[in-house]
Amino acid sequence: MSVPDVAIVGAGPAGLIAAETVAAAGFSVTVYERMPSGARKFLMAGRGGLNLTHSESLETFLTRYGAAPPLLRDAVTAFPPQALREWAHGLKQETFIGTSGRVFPKAFKASPLLRAWLARLDHLGVRFALRHQWLGWNEEGALRFATPDGEHCVAPRASVLALGGASWPRLGANGDWRDILSAQGIAVTELEPANCGFRIDWSASFRDRFEGQPLKNVALACKGQTSRGEIVITRDGIEGGGVYALSRTLRETARAQGHAILSIDLRPDLSEQELVTRLSRPRGKQSVATFLRKVLALPPVAIGLLHEAALYRGTRLAALASDELTGLVRALPLRLDGPASLARAISTAGGVAFTDIRADFSLVKRPSVFVAGEMLDWEAPTGGYLLQASFATGIAAGQGVLARLHPVHFGR
Ligand SMILES: Cc1cc2nc3c(=O)[nH]c(=O)nc-3n(C[C@H](O)[C@H](O)[C@H](O)COP(=O)(O)OP(=O)(O)OC[C@H]3O[C@@H](n4cnc5c(N)ncnc54)[C@H](O)[C@@H]3O)c2cc1C
Repeated sequence: MSVPDVAIVGAGPAGLIAAETVAAAGFSVTVYERMPSGARKFLMAGRGGLNLTHSESLETFLTRYGAAPPLLRDAVTAFPPQALREWAHGLKQETFIGTSGRVFPKAFKASPLLRAWLARLDHLGVRFALRHQWLGWNEEGALRFATPDGEHCVAPRASVLALGGASWPRLGANGDWRDILSAQGIAVTELEPANCGFRIDWSASFRDRFEGQPLKNVALACKGQTSRGEIVITRDGIEGGGVYALSRTLRETARAQGHAILSIDLRPDLSEQELVTRLSRPRGKQSVATFLRKVLALPPVAIGLLHEAALYRGTRLAALASDELTGLVRALPLRLDGPASLARAISTAGGVAFTDIRADFSLVKRPSVFVAGEMLDWEAPTGGYLLQASFATGIAAGQGVLARLHPVHFGR
């Protein structure tokens, strides 16, 4: 294969959109990918509905990236949610806004969009070198790849690294680039689970009975941060959208204190007064479980959690006074021992530090190498923010490459 003008390493959404940006300007591009096919996480993301982006105002949208540096915000501002929707429409993939404001392709899954996208890249002359695992650089600065036919080195005019985070490693991105970049003196902050589950030391009886069961429409809180949604009981903890939304706060609290307390309101739609009134009704001979099911319509898993909480206090649920029970239903404290493994997280926090990246997304220490996507040091909740930032930084890196290769055209 001839040496391309530009090598893109990593065939996820960030790498593919960088490839499209550069190839559309007329440069030859090869995408190098370690797996036998690309975009596996993108396809996986589409399994439960590909949440491409979100329809809220750009101002609110940008707040989802928390303390992310201006460079990330600038990239999203330059390629905002509406631009991503129009890009999908350009591939004949109409989008719609779901009830929560999230944006999905009408086909809901990722495969039709990816097919149309790969056809466009093919039309632009983008070539793919699959089963090419990037190993770093040789002494001349060429990219080194392990391939089924042995090691292969390429020296393009510029390259984009879009290697993803380290969650779901079987889909290709496993964070092995961290040691390569660190060895070059490039700052990489710790890769940690984001949008992840958390570990809880359940009693054996609770775990055996409720593993896999959802608890819907609860309100969660930790350190002043709140979320509304679902949690799912796992064998060794909890996961689910409501927990993911608080994962940053929970992770940081657990790191600082050794554990985090997640407070669960089991009936957030009932006012305090209504809760007190219902729980003050005489229980008679009913078991506490039957009573709670009747007066509060709590599912068995919620009642199981109340039993666990009472046990944790060294007492039994039936022995609690009605005001104590009210307090527990309103703010049931769950002790989380820390995040579940990074391999099972939806996304990765941490990555290449923005202090080591120039405004054009090139590495300060390697000016012809650009970086994009989830491998950068930012994090965001689910809701389309992950893909939006991966696309936006991929475009920014692609434009950085173009400005470098074609400075007159870009007025530099
Ligand atoms: C189950 C699941 C559901 C998700 N759902 C959504 C969703 O609905 N909405 C949303 O916004 N986000 C979602 N995400 C997150 C989203 O998919 C990622 O943020 C996004 O794919 C990141 O894009 P990327 O291009 O930076 O990295 P990736 O998509 O991870 O791509 C990186 C590529 O680089 C390749 N690579 C890595 N290392 C090397 C190497 N050394 N040599 C060669 N190639 C290498 C990998 O094989 C991979 O193909 C979901 C994630 C998961 C796991």
